[in-house]
Amino acid sequence: MAASILSAPWFHNEEAAYEFVQSRLWPDNKPVCPFCGGYERTGKLSGKSTRIGVHKCYDCRKPFTVKVGTIFESSHIPLRLWLQAIFLIASSKKGISSNQLHRTLGVTLKSAWFMSHRVREAMKSGGLAPFGTGGGVVEVDETFIGHDKTIKPKGVKKGRGYHHKNKVLALVDRNTKQARSMVVDDVKASTLAPIIRANVVPEAHLMTDDASCYTKVGREFARHGFTKHMQGEYVSREDRNVHTNTIEGYFSVFKRGMRGVYQHCAHHHLNRYLAEFDFRYNNRIKLGVDDKERAERLLQGVVGKRLTYKISLERGVLA
Ligand SMILES: [Zn+2]
Repeated sequence: MAASILSAPWFHNEEAAYEFVQSRLWPDNKPVCPFCGGYERTGKLSGKSTRIGVHKCYDCRKPFTVKVGTIFESSHIPLRLWLQAIFLIASSKKGISSNQLHRTLGVTLKSAWFMSHRVREAMKSGGLAPFGTGGGVVEVDETFIGHDKTIKPKGVKKGRGYHHKNKVLALVDRNTKQARSMVVDDVKASTLAPIIRANVVPEAHLMTDDASCYTKVGREFARHGFTKHMQGEYVSREDRNVHTNTIEGYFSVFKRGMRGVYQHCAHHHLNRYLAEFDFRYNNRIKLGVDDKERAERLLQGVVGKRLTYKISLERGVLA
């Protein structure tokens, strides 16, 4: 019988946890000073009163650990629990609520909430390479989700129209099978066009529905195919290749996930949830990424993602 992944020492032993993270984040496992970038003159501090994982830089004389400059910084949560959280979140198909994390890891609900938001931060893609290279197909679509409480009703009856909802724009590269999504203020052409331009190369074959916001920007691409959604057409009758079904699939997974796991989501957290769904989608098993590999990739994202906001435990923010 193969050994359980969860029996690995870095999930249970703090020193092993530090060694594991160091081996992943420091090139050739050689300590790099996060303050001055020095790596030649560093030493590991030892001694009974020294905390685990502390190194000293002899260039700038500062002590540091591998946690500095990562999502793990300035929290008192043991590194081995962070690794457990990362593995659990990376291997779950639809995400894990803070409540579940709280019960499974035995940390307080407040810590669990804090951890899950930071891990979500690590899921934010560093890859900003544009979609559609080599004339590939890029599907673009927008959707509406939940209720944006930051928007005051404009005399519109509650529950009608999209004015009060969160607006999300997503792009899918059909060749690389990667998705990228983000919260947008509105779905006007003037808002969406710059985003599409920044994320899609001109030689791409753009595919959208016939919403007017895509008409003008569509001309900037090698080809622009669109379906006549307003006439109930979801695959173009002229060209069966023209559709936005891939992205519809992405949205339906996202919406199901948001309903099932994350009951409430404040507007200012939505981008982080989108990052999580993008990460899952872009590192899915169908693309050959297994749970272990997904956790490894997630760990690579912990650097340079320190959150500066304070924890807010107001109702509705807990997710
Ligand atoms: Zn230094």
